[in-house]
Amino acid sequence: MRLLLVEDDPLLVEGLASQLEKAGFSVDVTGTAKAAIILGEQEDYRAGVLDLGLPDGNGLDVLRHWRSNNAHFPVLILTARGDWQDKVNGLKAGADDYLAKPFQAEELIARLHAIVRRSEGRGQSSLRAGRFELDENRQNLKLPDGSEHSLTGTEFRLLRCLMSRPGHVFSKEQLMEQLYNLNESPSDNIIEAYIRRLRKLVGAETITTRRGQGYLFHDAP
Ligand code: CA
Repeated sequence: MRLLLVEDDPLLVEGLASQLEKAGFSVDVTGTAKAAIILGEQEDYRAGVLDLGLPDGNGLDVLRHWRSNNAHFPVLILTARGDWQDKVNGLKAGADDYLAKPFQAEELIARLHAIVRRSEGRGQSSLRAGRFELDENRQNLKLPDGSEHSLTGTEFRLLRCLMSRPGHVFSKEQLMEQLYNLNESPSDNIIEAYIRRLRKLVGAETITTRRGQGYLFHDAP
């Protein structure tokens, strides 16, 4: 699940990016409003974290640009503590939630999961598809027989993507985009390798290949 982190404080970014990665996001980072506007409109993000005080502009303008250019991914803004006007203006500009600095990474991640869930029309922190249940907090998968399997980071991200839209065909490129950030350049056949591993877990009939198109997760195999 791709996430754009817009923050110009390198110390904050350093700690936060790795915690977001651990929580299952593939993170792109930028510290300028200009780059944030371009990335938000070009890339297929599932969530954004947006600092309002950027060196070359205001985060609210970035958000307005995104929203008026069909970039509708859920966005959490980072505000200064006690600045209620920032919060109000942020929500009016199209933010989905806000958090005042300083904050705990755990709270940020919990809030991000909540706004992503809402954007996907879900109320719970587990993702169900067919008789399978994916726990986003623990990153494990419950099989129809009730057994639970913990997943590696990449397995989790891939399965999360496929299970978020059962029956939908995801191309290899779309899956790569959600799994890896802009700085990573995995080899071409990495998706196939991970699909093979997941099939061992959920059964070959649950994740099928559409030749020349991509992969899909069946919710009623
Ligand atoms: Ca800042």
